[in-house]
Amino acid sequence: TVKESQRNKYMSYDSSMTEKFEAMLSVETELRKAIKQEQLEVHYQPQKSIMTGKVVGMEALIRWQHPTKGFIPPSSFIPIAEKTGQIVEIGEWVMRKACFQNKQWQKDGYEPVIVGVNLSALQFHQKDIVQRVRKILDETGLDPSYLELEITESMAMTNEEYIIKTLNDLRQLGVHVSIDDFGTGYSSLKYLSRFPVSKLKIDKAFINENQKQNQAIVKSIIHMSHSLNLKVIAEGVETVEQLNFLRKEQCDEIQGYYYSRPLPPEQLSDMFSRPYVH
Ligand code: C2E
Ligand code: MG
Ligand code: MG
Ligand code: MG
Repeated sequence: TVKESQRNKYMSYDSSMTEKFEAMLSVETELRKAIKQEQLEVHYQPQKSIMTGKVVGMEALIRWQHPTKGFIPPSSFIPIAEKTGQIVEIGEWVMRKACFQNKQWQKDGYEPVIVGVNLSALQFHQKDIVQRVRKILDETGLDPSYLELEITESMAMTNEEYIIKTLNDLRQLGVHVSIDDFGTGYSSLKYLSRFPVSKLKIDKAFINENQKQNQAIVKSIIHMSHSLNLKVIAEGVETVEQLNFLRKEQCDEIQGYYYSRPLPPEQLSDMFSRPYVH
């Protein structure tokens, strides 16, 4: 009957909601365990200057090695951690770990690079975010100029005054700020010219799908960045053709599998040039 099928529809809707909710709860519980049992790791992906060919940065990317489920990609748990609020603790752990690692590379005599850390909107909107970043820099001894915080465009929409003030305070502290996944969010050119950031990261969707339109978009992002005095890096570079195109368009830096996948820190030593070995 109609009634019955409606009820079934309702029930199946209901149970899929419940399933989603339970899946989220279980990720939350599992994630809490992961933090305690040290299942989380940070890998790093090199960022290369196109002009000099040197590694100039390393992006810190979280990795979760679950004891029975194996590798769980950030895209399956970061959005949940953002909903539950756990991202604040996790993000801060990543930042401390990344700053510590970068300081360690410097102590080991490698040529200094900037470490990039993804900052979730929830972290950015903590009233004391600037003090928290300063505390981590103090604890690890990393000079602020070797830390870059990656924010996304989505948070750039709300509460403009607060964002500008926080960005200015971070700049005062001496850290860099970049806009991640540029081109996929609600970018407003008006905001972009007002936000004190130093770099745009072109989203990989525009890089690794080789369509004429994408090339036109990439070109204009590069040119716009330079006219706003911003550096620009392309994410998701996988082929030499993509690299050549970006070189021709005078993109500043590249990051992607073409050069290196994200790797655990101990596997990255070969990536650095080593001008002053002790
Ligand atoms: P993202 O910040 O845009 O990081 C770049 C992503 O692109 C990484 O995915 C990286 O592995 C991937 N990638 C790099 N080169 C290539 C390439 O040539 N081809 C392709 N197809 N992909 C490439 P990953 O590590 O899976 O991270 C996904 C997202 O999860 C990140 O995107 C970031 O938004 C989030 N995330 C990762 N770690 C953290 C963290 O510590 N805190 C926060 N808040 N978010 C994080
Ligand atoms: Mg990023
Ligand atoms: Mg990105
Ligand atoms: Mg992202």
